[in-house]
Amino acid sequence: MSGAKSLAERVISGDRRALAQAITLVESTRADHRSEAEALLDALLPQTGKALRIGISGAPGVGKSTFIEAFGLHLISRGKRPAVLAVDPSSRLSGGSILGDKTRMAELAKHKEAFIRPSPSGFGSDGLGFGGIARRSREALLVCEAAGFDPILVETVGVGQSETAVSEMTDMFLLLLLPAAGDDLQGIKRGIMELADLVIVNKSDGVLETAAMRTASDYAHALRLMQPRHRGWRPEVLRSSALNGFGIAEIAAKAEEFRAALDETGERTARRRDQAALWFNRELGLSIIERLTGDPAHAEMLRAVEDKVARGVLAPASAARHVITTLLKAR
Ligand code: GDP
Repeated sequence: MSGAKSLAERVISGDRRALAQAITLVESTRADHRSEAEALLDALLPQTGKALRIGISGAPGVGKSTFIEAFGLHLISRGKRPAVLAVDPSSRLSGGSILGDKTRMAELAKHKEAFIRPSPSGFGSDGLGFGGIARRSREALLVCEAAGFDPILVETVGVGQSETAVSEMTDMFLLLLLPAAGDDLQGIKRGIMELADLVIVNKSDGVLETAAMRTASDYAHALRLMQPRHRGWRPEVLRSSALNGFGIAEIAAKAEEFRAALDETGERTARRRDQAALWFNRELGLSIIERLTGDPAHAEMLRAVEDKVARGVLAPASAARHVITTLLKAR
């Protein structure tokens, strides 16, 4: 049996070391690891697709990790097995990671029913933009799903680009907000609000509770003016206190309601299909660039063309066309 196949079997049977090993493999940028990772994913694919995939976003300090811990513990108490992954654009920029801190979610990490994967670090700048990181997170998600975890929680910091990528790999999107001091809408970009299936005003406790209520009603009003993303679901605003547990059970129940509603309209399956097609196209583009830059002759040609673009001699679009024409002629 090939290495990838036996690793896949161990992942499916629930072997945690195999799971960690499999995720390390899909996150690796080494070319020989890549082909193994692809064989692994092909072998796992029939076991994927069963979990509810939930994206969780919000600005640093809003309480994401506290929330995910409380949410995860609640899910375990209801017999679920949650997995937590992080898509963290900061790890690419700084080499470090705000989401990767090992002390986060210490309680949840103690439970064998949960699996927490800190965000991949050390990706460095791969020249492929954020898509280069997000594609591996999506693969890690599939590995967790094949290992039987459900739901899969994908956490990200609110910086726009990462939220879009996370919404492109999940079924449901939770946006966490802080109780606002005034009645301003926290400068949340409309585009991000539009992704949200549930808006959660966290820290609804103590002195912040009144502000949280007002913020929740402001956002409920703002949401009513927006076009819902799904036929079967109208986004709602809920309040929570990740610290004392208020609202957590209700949010978990809403997630189940969401799953049932979208399964009834068939939208979850349709969305998964669209997402798979989207990631295929993205993967194709990224893979072409990787193959070319990994091959010395092509890399040299690319560098020369890129230089012309940089100097303003060629426009990006005509430069790309030139490269493709050259490649097709050389077949
Ligand atoms: P993250 O950066 O979004 O992951 O936020 P953290 O989970 O690290 O929380 C940031 C700070 O807010 C910590 O000091 C938490 O204890 C606190 N915090 C998180 N949730 C709540 C909450 O529901 N109520 C209150 N009062 N504080 C909270």
